[in-house]
Amino acid sequence: MARFYISVEIERRVRTAARNLCGYCLSPQRLVMARLEIEHIIPISKDGTNDESNLWLACPLYNRYKSDKTIGLDPQTSEIVKLFNPRTQVWF
Ligand SMILES: [Zn+2]
Repeated sequence: MARFYISVEIERRVRTAARNLCGYCLSPQRLVMARLEIEHIIPISKDGTNDESNLWLACPLYNRYKSDKTIGLDPQTSEIVKLFNPRTQVWF
């Protein structure tokens, strides 16, 4: 199996679970000019897997910006924090 292979069925389930929204900016697929991408919450390069529990939807802009990051600087506290996880955290 290819390192980045994700079956059509898993992709369909991820898109359904994400309600066809980017998990980060909440842009709906119908308003994004490109197809929302399946992204790895924990990047493969940081030992993430292709398991469904590690996959979510992201707009291409966010996905390129996030790249292989898992932490970031919180602008309000100036602390290094884990990036938002759309599977386990709620964002309004
Ligand atoms: Zn987005």
